[in-house]
Amino acid sequence: MNKHKLIAEIKQNFMLKRLRAQEQCDEFVESLKQDSAFKEMYNSYTKAQIEFLKSTFEKEDVELKHQVQDLKDKIDKYLADRNIDRIKLNPQYECPICNDTGVVGGRICKCFLSELNKKISLGASSQTEFSAFEKSDENLLNDNDKKAYEVVKTWCSKYPLVTKRNINIIGGAGTGKTFMLECIANEMLNRNYVVIYKTAFELNEMARLYHIGKSYDFADLLTADVLLIDDLGTEPILKNVTVEYLYNLINTRQIHNLPTFISTNLSLENILSRYDERIFSRLGNKNLSLNISLTSPDKRLK
Ligand SMILES: [Zn+2]
Repeated sequence: MNKHKLIAEIKQNFMLKRLRAQEQCDEFVESLKQDSAFKEMYNSYTKAQIEFLKSTFEKEDVELKHQVQDLKDKIDKYLADRNIDRIKLNPQYECPICNDTGVVGGRICKCFLSELNKKISLGASSQTEFSAFEKSDENLLNDNDKKAYEVVKTWCSKYPLVTKRNINIIGGAGTGKTFMLECIANEMLNRNYVVIYKTAFELNEMARLYHIGKSYDFADLLTADVLLIDDLGTEPILKNVTVEYLYNLINTRQIHNLPTFISTNLSLENILSRYDERIFSRLGNKNLSLNISLTSPDKRLK
């Protein structure tokens, strides 16, 4: 499914979520109004509140303000005496930031993006919670890696004003490549980009399913704002699939100027021998690619 369709679908779901929350709230209030004492209090309260709001357009009416507060206190006491949670008097939206509108201050809310990302990622083992740069413990990093973190942090904060959009993170097992990718994913998600994280293994499987016409999720990888591929080189090489789809993916994203992060413990020479000249020339192009090497021992386990 393409991104626009997904967005329309999520918008629809958000609208339904809001309506449901409002309906539930209305039903709850109606049920309380069965008691005429509550009904009278509640009606006076909403009436006073409206009057007070009107007054604020000119000069705040202090007397009305107190009246509203008194009525609110009475309602609260009424509910507390009956062990009823007063929070239910307002619609209970899932996202307290945007009240399930999906928009906050003219920008798309994080909840909407995370929903979109979830739908796009689809894969069961896809990351949904990512680590943050703040969590990387500087004391455990050697000078090389400290510098590496600075480089990617700067890249994330400057994007899209960056020239290199293919970032290769190279390092042996246990040097924290995945952790660095997670930091990048988190940072870019926070900046409201559609981020997809896949292990090379998952990506290979998506390509295989696409190749035999069983799933079309692979197409989402071509257009995601940011793509992160973890552990390139650990996937099996499938004939007519692995090399072809990887090249297509990297090449298409380069043409559209979309950033791709790849972590691997292969050297560039090994990439050439494992894949082919075309992939090597895409990833090894010094004008388009940035190579970052990690050398510290595992940062999370110590
Ligand atoms: Zn939200």
